[in-house]
Amino acid sequence: TVGAVVRGADGHFAVACSTGGSAPSLLGRVGDTPIIGSGFYAGEHGAVAVTGIGEHIVTRLLAHTVYAWIAGGMPAQQAAEQGVALFPAEIDVGVIAVGRHDAGSASNREMPFAQVPAQVEK
Ligand code: ASP
Repeated sequence: TVGAVVRGADGHFAVACSTGGSAPSLLGRVGDTPIIGSGFYAGEHGAVAVTGIGEHIVTRLLAHTVYAWIAGGMPAQQAAEQGVALFPAEIDVGVIAVGRHDAGSASNREMPFAQVPAQVEK
């Protein structure tokens, strides 16, 4: 999955994601990526994108769960880490998030985004 989260200069948030799914998978499988609140979410408080094993991610509505923590005032980095920590270590999960004041990312695997700090202008 490739995800992007942004806060525009006008203060609006946006999220985008695309996935090749997982393999092997059942014909007709729908993962987390196309489901609002599971693979992605954006609202007035921030934007969140998720990658990992969709069958597990959907059970936590992970993108919205992380978003709700940010909306409640939690720093984006803490919210991303707390989201990943919901899952056992053997379940691949990654989260990127941006809020009004900060951005964060977390993963329980080596993933490129985890090494790229988000640019946040204050
Ligand atoms: N989340 C995707 C899915 O389960 C897979 C991925 O992130 O690589 O369809």
